[in-house]
Amino acid sequence: MGLFSSTNLNSLDALFVDQIQDIYDAEMRLTKALPKMAEAASATQLKNAFQQHLEETKQQVHRLEQVFELIGEKPKTKPCEAMKGLITEGEEVMDATGDDAVRDAALIAAAQRVEHYEMAAYGSARTFALRLAHLDATELLQQSLDEEGAADHKLTQIAESAINPRAATA
Ligand code: FE
Ligand code: FE
Ligand code: ZN
Ligand code: FE
Repeated sequence: MGLFSSTNLNSLDALFVDQIQDIYDAEMRLTKALPKMAEAASATQLKNAFQQHLEETKQQVHRLEQVFELIGEKPKTKPCEAMKGLITEGEEVMDATGDDAVRDAALIAAAQRVEHYEMAAYGSARTFALRLAHLDATELLQQSLDEEGAADHKLTQIAESAINPRAATA
């Protein structure tokens, strides 16, 4: 039982809508957080990666609006408590003082937590959409899932090739 209200999960359709509302909220929060992450990053390569993922995130918001439309629902958010917490952790890094490369490594660690959370969310939602035979929605959710995976992979590459070696000499 939730603190303020409980969700009625009486069908897979209802669960699917609930999940999409959660991801929609999470993505909206990220469109506000990613510019701050880009601002906080020191390495140009990392700044650019956050900027690029901001543009992808705006597309992901648009895809979710298309999913709502495909299932005959109005776009609606349900507070994503997990994303609130992950963004709070990112803000702790933004407020941190210290070495630029170490701070960048910490920004990447925070951002990869976000990407993995999103991958889990899109993976479940995509699988529910497929089971419900919402094939166009399945395709849209798979596209965003693939983008989150690519963003995560890119952050790993930046960390391993550039940021972590510099951070290790701080
Ligand atoms: Fe996203
Ligand atoms: Fe959530
Ligand atoms: Zn998300
Ligand atoms: Fe993402």
